[in-house]
Amino acid sequence: MSFKVKFWGVRGSIATPSPRHIAFGGNTSCLEIAMGGERIILDAGTGIRNLGHWFLKKDLRRAHLLLSHTHWDHINGFPFFSPAFRKDRHFHIMAGHLHAHGGIRTVLSSQMANPTFPVPLAVMGAKLDFEDFRAGDKFNIGRSIKVRTAALNHPDGATGYRLEYRGKSVCYITDTEHVIGKPDEKILALIEGADVVIYDATYTDDEFPGKIGWGHSTWQEGVRLCRQAGVKMLMIFHHDPDHEDLFMERLEAEARQMWPHALVARENMRLNLL
Ligand SMILES: [Zn+2]
Ligand SMILES: [Zn+2]
Repeated sequence: MSFKVKFWGVRGSIATPSPRHIAFGGNTSCLEIAMGGERIILDAGTGIRNLGHWFLKKDLRRAHLLLSHTHWDHINGFPFFSPAFRKDRHFHIMAGHLHAHGGIRTVLSSQMANPTFPVPLAVMGAKLDFEDFRAGDKFNIGRSIKVRTAALNHPDGATGYRLEYRGKSVCYITDTEHVIGKPDEKILALIEGADVVIYDATYTDDEFPGKIGWGHSTWQEGVRLCRQAGVKMLMIFHHDPDHEDLFMERLEAEARQMWPHALVARENMRLNLL
C-alpha cells in the first residue's frame, strides 16, 4: 500500500560528475516510484545505472519504464541498466511521442548500435516489452494505478505524466518550455490538485529570455503553475549543468521565499506519499 518516490538523477542535459555538483547530484533524469505493489521508473538518464545496481541487490525483477522522451539525457543510462541483461527480469517500456520515428524499440535499438555503442539491444537478456502510446492518452498500470499523460512543448516532443494511487498523485513534467505570461493549459489540467509536481526548472526567469526555443522552463514558472493548479508541493528538477551547488542553494532559498511549498530535487532524495 506504499507510494514512494526516489530521485536517482536530477540533472538536465548532461551528467556533471564534479565536486561542485555533489550536493544536488550529477546524474541525469531518473526516478523510481514504488506504488501499489508496482515499480515505475521515469526516464533512463545516467541515474538508472545506480538504480540497476539497487534492483540487483534487492532482487527486484520487474518494472515499468515510462520515458518522457528520448533525448540523450533521458536514455543514455539505459545501456548500463544491468538488470536488463538478466534473463529472469521483465521490463515494460513505454513512450508517447515516437510513432513518427518507428516507435520506442527502434529508437532504443538505434542508440545501442555501432559505431556509437558496441552492445546491441538484442543482447539484453531480460524480457522487454515495448509499447507506444500517444501523449494525451490515459491508461492503467496494474489494477490500481491510474496514468494520465499530456504532450509537452519540447523540440521533437515529450510526454508529461500524472500517476495516481489511492487518492495521491505525482506529476512528472519534463522537458517543457513555457510561453511568458501564458500558462500551459495542458499542464494546468494535468497537474490540477496534485500532491507533488516534478517540473523542468532548467533556467531562472532571468536566464529564460536568452534560452527561448531550447525547450525548457524556469522554477518561477513551476511555482506559478503549481499555485494556479492548487498543487501541494513543487519539486524543482532537471538542473542546468552550469548551476553548481552554491547557485542551487541560493535558488532554493529564493524559491521557498516565493512559495514555501517548493523544494529543489537532490540525487538520492526520497518522498513518501503513503
Ligand atoms: Zn532533458
Ligand atoms: Zn529534451
